[in-house]
Amino acid sequence: MEYIITKEQCEKAHKSLVCSGCGKPIEAIETVDNANRPTFWAGCNSCGRFQYGVPIDVWLAVSWGNDKKKYLDNNQRLELNREYCDIFQEVMFAFKSLGLESK
Ligand SMILES: [Zn+2]
Repeated sequence: MEYIITKEQCEKAHKSLVCSGCGKPIEAIETVDNANRPTFWAGCNSCGRFQYGVPIDVWLAVSWGNDKKKYLDNNQRLELNREYCDIFQEVMFAFKSLGLESK
C-alpha cells in the first residue's frame, strides 16, 4: 500500500514536538486524506486530535501558567492550553522567520 505521507516522513517532521493539549509526544496516526488515500498525519491519540504539536518548552511554559487556572474544569483548561500554545507557536515562528531565536 502506498501512503501519501509515510509514517517515517510524518515522525521525522514532528520529532520532539508534543501535544498542545496534554503534552504527550506527537504520534504518526494512520488515516485517510480527503480523497480517501491512505496517509499518516501527526496528532495525539490521547486527545484524539490531529495537530502539528508544539515544542516541549512552550508546553511547559503554558502548563506552568495553568496553576493559576485551578478553578477551571479539565475541558476548559485543555481548551485554554491549546489556544495559548497556538499563540506561542505563532510568535516563535515569527521570531524564527526574522532570524531570531526564542532563547
Ligand atoms: Zn494530547
